Amino acid sequence: MSEYRCPECGYTYNEQSGDEFEGFSPGTAFVDLPADFVCPDCSVRSKDEFERVS
Ligand SMILES: [Zn+2]
Repeated sequence: MSEYRCPECGYTYNEQSGDEFEGFSPGTAFVDLPADFVCPDCSVRSKDEFERVS
C-alpha cells in the first residue's frame, strides 16, 4: 500500500485507508481512482500530478 501527495496543498491519499468522505473505500489503489480525479482539498492538481510518498 502506498501514499500519494498533492504537490499543491499537501493532501495525501493513503491507499490503505482510502478516503471514505470522497467515496473511496479503504484499500482502493491510487491507480484505480477515476481518471478525472482531482485533489479533494484544493481542486487544483490532477491525479497524474500527485507524487508518490511511500
Ligand atoms: Zn491539493
